[in-house]
Amino acid sequence: MNKLKAYTLFSSSKGNSTYISYGKDAFLIDAGASMRAISTAVESLGGSLKKLRGIFVSHEHDDHTKGLKVISKNCGIPIYTDPKCMNLISMQAPAAEECLVPTLAGDVVHIGDIKVTVYPTPHDSVRSFCYRIETAGGSLGYATDIGHISDEVQDALFGCDSVLIESNYDPLLLQNGPYPKFLKERIDSARGHLSNAACACLAPVLARCGTRSISLAHLSETNNTPRLAFEATKERLNEYGVSLCGECFAGDLRLQVASVAQITEITL
Ligand SMILES: [Zn+2]
Ligand SMILES: [Zn+2]
Repeated sequence: MNKLKAYTLFSSSKGNSTYISYGKDAFLIDAGASMRAISTAVESLGGSLKKLRGIFVSHEHDDHTKGLKVISKNCGIPIYTDPKCMNLISMQAPAAEECLVPTLAGDVVHIGDIKVTVYPTPHDSVRSFCYRIETAGGSLGYATDIGHISDEVQDALFGCDSVLIESNYDPLLLQNGPYPKFLKERIDSARGHLSNAACACLAPVLARCGTRSISLAHLSETNNTPRLAFEATKERLNEYGVSLCGECFAGDLRLQVASVAQITEITL
């Protein structure tokens, strides 16, 4: 039987792109790196940009879209996003508009035997989405750029075998860091990004709903470290009696941090 596979190619506040495949079908979520970098990463996984069935664009921010200009000009891959996001994307990437497949919150998109359900997220963009990806060979909930855990984000994630979720910043590092006040407030707001603590609070609930793998993603390189993000969620899981899988022992749940720019396999 086929197995759902997912790999983050890039994951941070600077750039995000994730490759998802099931059988012969593959697509990207976001294209926040150069076409060359994304193409090299996809090829190293045995895929090809031109054979992708589409790119789901979560929202118009640059760290999710900067590769679209060149990719849409060269590959003509369908781009699944909200028309309002596309209005903004097409100012920088005119060819992208011709690839648009208008996609709204609540839509269900079938890519071969992969079912992708689109949910809205609370974020300071014109529109923004997270995704529930379901196949006969596993399910993945995928949510980054979320100011808080809304009911819709919960609907996207709860009950998935594997969850990729934003763990963007450590509140103390943000508070004491170099960003201007307005930006700190923006990140910390209910329509900004998810802190390590807020992400950690959700983890035991996900475990209780059957999730067996959590991948922490979209970390800020300025206001976070992989260790801080990992430890915050690990501590919370342990408080609730959820043990982590280690190299030599089986626990209740696997926890990992997606690398900034190295391919990370999302455990499913
Ligand atoms: Zn964003
Ligand atoms: Zn982002």
